[in-house]
Amino acid sequence: MLPTKGYAAHNDHDPLVPFNFSRRDPGPHDVLIEILYCGVCHSDLHQVRNEWHETIYPIVPGHEIVGRVVRTGNAVTRFKPGDLAGVGVFIDSCRTCDNCKNGLEQYCEQGMIATYNSWEKDGKHYTYGGYSNQIVVDEHYTLHVPASLDLRGVAPLLCAGITTYSPLRYLEVGKGTRVAIAGLGGLGHMGVKWAAAMGAEVTLLSSSPSKKADAHRLGAHEFIWVNDEEALKKRKAYFDVILNTISAPHDYNRYLQLLRLNGTMAVVGLPPAPQQIQVFHLTNFRRSIMGSMIGGIRETQEMLDFAAQHQITSDVEVIAMQDINTAFDRLAKNDVKYRFVIDMSTLQ
Ligand code: NAP
Ligand code: ZN
Ligand code: ZN
Repeated sequence: MLPTKGYAAHNDHDPLVPFNFSRRDPGPHDVLIEILYCGVCHSDLHQVRNEWHETIYPIVPGHEIVGRVVRTGNAVTRFKPGDLAGVGVFIDSCRTCDNCKNGLEQYCEQGMIATYNSWEKDGKHYTYGGYSNQIVVDEHYTLHVPASLDLRGVAPLLCAGITTYSPLRYLEVGKGTRVAIAGLGGLGHMGVKWAAAMGAEVTLLSSSPSKKADAHRLGAHEFIWVNDEEALKKRKAYFDVILNTISAPHDYNRYLQLLRLNGTMAVVGLPPAPQQIQVFHLTNFRRSIMGSMIGGIRETQEMLDFAAQHQITSDVEVIAMQDINTAFDRLAKNDVKYRFVIDMSTLQ
């Protein structure tokens, strides 16, 4: 077993504290990764605070992991010591169902094995995430990280990046598509960058008027404050796609009305409580609402390669591990531009 250092929450209200635990020794197909940077996703906060009512404590969050391979099992073929590596939201799946076979492991019929707060396939080992100095992962669930990008800005691509890239690709966003991104946070700012790089006309729908200048800097062509009724009226029945990244409860109906004929609202934000939809907003203009969860391994690699090609990374604020509780408080208050990333060398 490998003695490992991390930070854990022990209940839904106390701060995260240092936590020592063991990782398994790398098996034949595993890589051992020294973690260099780990992004702080709002899902980490939802789960640490048990907002989804499924947390098992102690929990070591973190699923936006970038590091360096330090050891490989003897059957590993795709990585060698010294390689950069990334790990996202899941570290295993059944590998035999249709969805796994089609590269959609995040929708595994048996349920994906999440990087943290999940039971491994043996049903005995509970997973611990990237707020730690090292992780052991099967090579097939490990990503190659382009060396040409700033690693601090790459870490958030492993969740925020792929979660926004995947639905935009699925909906075939490109030149001529009118895309609105709802919410300018960790996910939303990546959504703006991707949609602009794909050639779409991009609008940001935000509850924060102060984010207008940033929205334009990131690539949005238009900014709409969602409480500006006049501006909303002008964009009724206008967009082909709305990518909804909002983390808090809000009225989906306000946004649905902005979709044109056959338009789709892809929901990736995960507010804890159920929300009501007025179905007339769907029947009118044959609109759809869909959900989307991260992306499969193949598409995550494609996204990283697209990022390298277009020199796209996340805008980050690098923090020390010891500052995670302040970062969580700020994330809860919508005060981050636009992703916290933990420098793991600060974990002593
Ligand atoms: P984040 O950085 O906190 O961003 C959330 C954004 O939502 C905020 O920046 C804010 O943007 C907007 N917002 C917050 N409160 C709002 C309110 N009351 N009304 C309207 N807008 C509000 O969070 P994140 O890390 O991007 O994650 C966003 C959500 O996606 C979370 O629920 C997370 O759990 C979920 N998620 C889902 C997946 C998936 O696979 N589906 C993957 C990762 C994360 P403005 O200030 O611009 O309004
Ligand atoms: Zn995440
Ligand atoms: Zn499967």
